Amino acid sequence: MTTVLERPIVFDSLLASVAAVDDLSPHLRRVTFVAPRIAEAVTAGPDQRIKVLLTPPNGGPITLPSGPDWYPDWCAQPVDERFIMRTYTVRALRPEVAELDIEFVLHGVNGPASAWVSEAKLGDQVGLLLPFAVDKTSTKGLLHSGVDYVPPATSVRRVLVADETALPALAGILEELPAGVHATVFVAVPDAADVRPLAGNADVTWVTNGTLAETVQSTVLPFDVDYAWVAGESSMIKEVRRHLVNAVGMPKSAISFQGYWKRGEAHD
Ligand SMILES: Cc1cc2nc3c(=O)[nH]c(=O)nc-3n(C[C@H](O)[C@H](O)[C@H](O)COP(=O)(O)OP(=O)(O)OC[C@H]3O[C@@H](n4cnc5c(N)ncnc54)[C@H](O)[C@@H]3O)c2cc1C
Repeated sequence: MTTVLERPIVFDSLLASVAAVDDLSPHLRRVTFVAPRIAEAVTAGPDQRIKVLLTPPNGGPITLPSGPDWYPDWCAQPVDERFIMRTYTVRALRPEVAELDIEFVLHGVNGPASAWVSEAKLGDQVGLLLPFAVDKTSTKGLLHSGVDYVPPATSVRRVLVADETALPALAGILEELPAGVHATVFVAVPDAADVRPLAGNADVTWVTNGTLAETVQSTVLPFDVDYAWVAGESSMIKEVRRHLVNAVGMPKSAISFQGYWKRGEAHD
C-alpha cells in the first residue's frame, strides 16, 4: 500500500535484506540493501533522507507502516512494541539491480541503529521507508521531497560543512557538482583514518580534532560565496550558521542548515 506523507513526495515501506557490508574506514560502514521494490524507488537529490526501521525493543517483528495515518498510529503505540525508526541518507541507488547503499557511522552501541550496523551481516533484514515519487520541478517541490541541499541555479561558489553523519550526503553532493561551480568544504571525522578522497571542484579541509565550527570561523571564505549547506550535530550547525550570517554576512535565505543528530539525545 502506498503511503502519502506530504505531497508531492510519496513514500512507501518495504523489507530489505543486507546484500553487502563494506568498511570504508574505521567509523563509516557501507551497507547495501536489496529488495525487488527498490527498483522503483527514486531520489530528489544527493542528500535524500529516508527512514531505516529496526526491530522493536520487545524483539517483535517489524510491522511495515502503511496508509496516510501511519505516523500518528506509530506514535500512539507503546514504545516497546513499535519499530525503531532512524533517519539516513541514500548514498547510492541502483534501480537496475534493486539495490540501495547507506553509509552508517559506527558510533558505538549506545544507539539502536549504530548497534545494529555494528553487527550487520548478509541476509539481515530492516524496513526502509523510501520515496517512490518526488517533485523536482521547483525549489518548493524539492524541499518537500526530503532533500535540503537545494542551491539556486545561479549559485557558483558554495560552502559545504559536514560532520561524519553528513559525509555520505556530502560525497554525493560533490560527485554531482556542476562544471563551473566551486565548493569550499569543511568536513569532520572522528579519526584521521576516516579521511577519504572526495570528488568535485573543491577545496577540502578535513577536521579530526572536534573543532569543525572553530575551523570554519577561523577561515577566510571566498568573498563571493553565494550558498551554504551545513549538516551534522545540532550545536555545530547552529554555531556555523551564526558565523555565516553575523561574520560572513550571508543572508539567512542562502543557508541550508540541518541537524542530523543531537549529542546526548536519541533521534527517531
Ligand atoms: C537528514 C538526515 C540524514 C542522515 N544521514 C545519515 C547517514 O547517512 N549516516 C549516518 O551515520 N547518520 C545519518 N544521520 C544521523 C543519524 O540519524 C543519527 O546519528 C542517529 O542518531 C543514529 O541513530 P542511533 O540509533 O545510532 O543513535 P540514537 O539512538 O539516535 O542516539 C543514541 C546516542 O548516540 C548519540 N549519537 C547519535 N549519532 C551519533 C554520532 N554520529 N556520533 C556520536 N554519537 C552519536 C546520541 O547523541 C545519543 O546520545 C542522518 C540524520 C538526518 C536527520
